[in-house]
Amino acid sequence: MEKIEPSRGVELRDFIAQGTACEGLIKTLEDGHFVHAYLITGQDGVGKKTLAREVAKYLLCTGEQKPCGTCAACQQVQQGTHPDLLTVRAGFHISSDQATETGKNFIIVDTIRELVAKVNEHAYEGGYRIVIMEHAEKMNPSAQNALLKTLEEPPENVLFLLLTDTPGSLLPTIVSRCRQIALHPWPDSTVKQVLAEHGYVGIRAAQAVQASGGSIGKALEMAGDDAYWENRRKVMKQFLDIPDYSSVYSIANEWKEAKDQGMELLDDLEDMVRTMLLCHLGRADMELVSDFPAAFQKMTREGSNDSFLHILDSIHDARRKRLSQVTWPAVLERLLLDIMEEKKKW
Ligand SMILES: [Zn+2]
Repeated sequence: MEKIEPSRGVELRDFIAQGTACEGLIKTLEDGHFVHAYLITGQDGVGKKTLAREVAKYLLCTGEQKPCGTCAACQQVQQGTHPDLLTVRAGFHISSDQATETGKNFIIVDTIRELVAKVNEHAYEGGYRIVIMEHAEKMNPSAQNALLKTLEEPPENVLFLLLTDTPGSLLPTIVSRCRQIALHPWPDSTVKQVLAEHGYVGIRAAQAVQASGGSIGKALEMAGDDAYWENRRKVMKQFLDIPDYSSVYSIANEWKEAKDQGMELLDDLEDMVRTMLLCHLGRADMELVSDFPAAFQKMTREGSNDSFLHILDSIHDARRKRLSQVTWPAVLERLLLDIMEEKKKW
């Protein structure tokens, strides 16, 4: 299933909140003095693709107020079908869903040659041609070298937007040819507002904001993922609401086949404990824990930092052991017993 595009909620002007680099970019779009290549960096889901598409809309829009978001050009950019928007993705031909013969996980030199040929054609609409390269770090070295020549002597009216969450994996020569725009985690209030615009409110939205780490894309994906919340409820019920010692073994047994999902289980659990700790420290709203088991709500209100830190330690220990020779049910039993010990105090 295609991820929900955060661009429905976030527009070009919203990126001003990201700081001076974004503000500068928007200003240069307005006065036409932009450079020909940008490297947009930032964690997964933070809005790199959204920003790139908003820039493309700005330059290709045929409406009055650019980008209007409603003209045919803006809509084609949003859908990735505008003839002057060239999308580069690992494993696919330019701007198409047709797979390349080789290099499923890489952007290969053949794809860059295809791109170079296309950027040297004239723009269909006589204006700009925009290249959006997703996960630019997936270019192998020969692809990067092939692109380098074009970045050094770019054709007129072509704008390259390279996106990556790991700029360190690109050749320094590529990085130095681009102006870098680093996107940072968004403030909770912005993430919350975008979720509300998509119809997500209440505790699920609040918890998605908390767990997203400032990534709007991640928050939208989480908020809309029913299976995720169902699983999270199950994890909470079984790992935080343990009735007695005898149930520890049956719970561990129930999860024994789930070693492959072990990291997600531990991630969920860690997120819940961190949420309690943040509420306890007064850095997050108590609403976030309103569906937690009573003992943990009490611990959140009245407990000591140590209780939460002990459980976090146990979770880290479980992560470490999961990769060792210790059997998975034994890892879970230890973790459940540690959680029970803390819970007993409340
Ligand atoms: Zn438009």
